[in-house]
Amino acid sequence: MAEINVQTIPNYLELKKQYAIECETFLALNKDKICEAFIEYFGEEYRDRIEYRFNYTFFSFYFLFPKIKEVFEVGQKQELPPKIVDKYQTLLSSYEAYPKPEDQTVPDYFVYISDENLLVEEKYRERVLTQIAVHHNPTCVANIAYNHVYNFIAFPLLACNFHAFIHELSHAVTTEMMAIIENEGEYTPLISNGVYYTTVQMGKSDDLIVEELLNDIGTSKIKELATKRGISKSMIFNNIISLGFEYSGNLYLVMDFYNAFEPLIKKSRIENSRNLLLNGVGEDNYNEFVSLVNKYYVHDDVPTEEHKIEAMKEISPVIDKMIKYYNDNNIDEVLGRSI
Ligand SMILES: [Zn+2]
Repeated sequence: MAEINVQTIPNYLELKKQYAIECETFLALNKDKICEAFIEYFGEEYRDRIEYRFNYTFFSFYFLFPKIKEVFEVGQKQELPPKIVDKYQTLLSSYEAYPKPEDQTVPDYFVYISDENLLVEEKYRERVLTQIAVHHNPTCVANIAYNHVYNFIAFPLLACNFHAFIHELSHAVTTEMMAIIENEGEYTPLISNGVYYTTVQMGKSDDLIVEELLNDIGTSKIKELATKRGISKSMIFNNIISLGFEYSGNLYLVMDFYNAFEPLIKKSRIENSRNLLLNGVGEDNYNEFVSLVNKYYVHDDVPTEEHKIEAMKEISPVIDKMIKYYNDNNIDEVLGRSI
């Protein structure tokens, strides 16, 4: 589809309408192909599970105007080509000029929501909006509605690409609600996101970063499989200003681990079984690995070559121990050679 020329669209509502059509069209044309790519990656035996989770994944797309404005104001503006600056200034002024309705339930910077009812519940809406405001990243939030667990993906337009979209979908496909815990009238879901789990009452496991990095490696592979199936290009993935951070600089921390145990990692993540992974590589080994990844993970920056060498000097022997554990305990046989 041709790029929309915002210079000729002074009206925010008009622009919003065009983007909404583009979002809806992209999903209608590509959702099934993307779902097939997930099935190809995790395995045909997980078709029902993956299709089920796809059916309970809802999508929203938004322009995060407050953050876009901040980016321009703090001076990143100079680093952007003048054409893009012009474009965003037009977009921002078009948004600012538009008269905001007073009693809106969902903020008007949301362009498209596949099911608006999901944001009607105030508590849940606040949770989604807080996630957006804190991370400025695409996000995937699990909740219960229509008697089902569903995942709600909130995706920022202009600031993200197709990789980020698949990354969030991959969270949705690997998220399992294991229990609902009631505490003083409040319901808290116990959620497993791949091998990582979180709940207010039981605390969080400390492998969030490991899960994120494994998810991101899987994302690249799924993206490739989806692209082969012919995903149509869309302007909704034009990543013109980058508001979030990327995992790519830190992937080396888990790459050898991923390559050594890819089938086991996939199985553990799609079955939401941390135990499967712990039994396969040894619990102590895994915990040691997790704490080293956490130790060497670099936030908001790119690690230096020296940093990487130092990290791998500690991580590599732990992976060797895991491989030995796996072989000594005949894990292939224990798991029925299915991995
Ligand atoms: Zn993530």
